[in-house]
Amino acid sequence: MENTREILYFQEFERRRIAEGLHDTTAQELIHLSQQLELAFLYLEQDIVQAKLEMISAKKQIKTIMIPTTCGTGSEATCNAIVAIPEEQSKKGIVNDAMIPDYVVLDAQMIQKLPKSIIAATGVDALAHCVECFTSKKATPLSDFYAMQGAKLIFKNIREAYNNADDMEAKSNMLLGAFYGGVAITGSGTTAVHALSYPLGGKYHIAHGVSNAILFAHVMEFNKDACKQRLAMLCDVVEPTLIAKSVDEKAQYIIEQITDIVKVTNIPTDLKEFGVKMEDLDFLVDAGSKQTRLLVNNMKELSLNDIREIYLKVLKP
Ligand SMILES: [Zn+2]
Repeated sequence: MENTREILYFQEFERRRIAEGLHDTTAQELIHLSQQLELAFLYLEQDIVQAKLEMISAKKQIKTIMIPTTCGTGSEATCNAIVAIPEEQSKKGIVNDAMIPDYVVLDAQMIQKLPKSIIAATGVDALAHCVECFTSKKATPLSDFYAMQGAKLIFKNIREAYNNADDMEAKSNMLLGAFYGGVAITGSGTTAVHALSYPLGGKYHIAHGVSNAILFAHVMEFNKDACKQRLAMLCDVVEPTLIAKSVDEKAQYIIEQITDIVKVTNIPTDLKEFGVKMEDLDFLVDAGSKQTRLLVNNMKELSLNDIREIYLKVLKP
């Protein structure tokens, strides 16, 4: 820091003056010296503030290329990362523009040998990104476009990608759908599915996609009366043959498809399988309700009792 040297210079100047005696220093010189010192301290303060700012705001030092190796997070399209907070037994999102890559390569060969269970969990996570972003309070025309296209690709390809490891077209479509889901997150935001899923990952170490899959249809069922128009719009894109059906029927179709995908891809649907006990319910309700970053995006407000009811649906006695 340039001004630090200036301070040191003045300190040395002062030391010498004291050592040599002040008899030859005029009042005017002393005033001038004190003004200079004051200015130098001000510069130093500014330098420290600037240095602190540089320390806390990450800057991209090199160009980045991201190549997803699952068909789920969409993180190659976002500025988000998720970190575990062991002390809170939960997970939180951190957001920084420096995490947006310069280049993305979507190569189906990267997921050709991925275990079926991971295709399922990450694929349903990507589907949740699309459906949640489309039904989010923060949805925009741009996020809607990517959310709709992503949902269509995943609804149409996840079963094939799960059942046939060599169906490279289905796997390419899954990667693209997951990427679109990531773009949708950047423009919009996920909602209560992801919010209530975080404590399940943080405390019980349930994989992110699995905890979302467990909650997905139940949260959409809860949201249905506030989001049915939007769910019906998704149905028009995913299954145009149902265009003449009512809004209620179309919304229900999307929820049933979500339930069916979780079932046919053999994702567990009960938290008991992960060691969650009925006495953990209060912890879950409390931790879930604290995920306000995402809960505020949900079209329908969730009371503590609503959150409890949703967890109870996946915590069978
Ligand atoms: Zn997710």
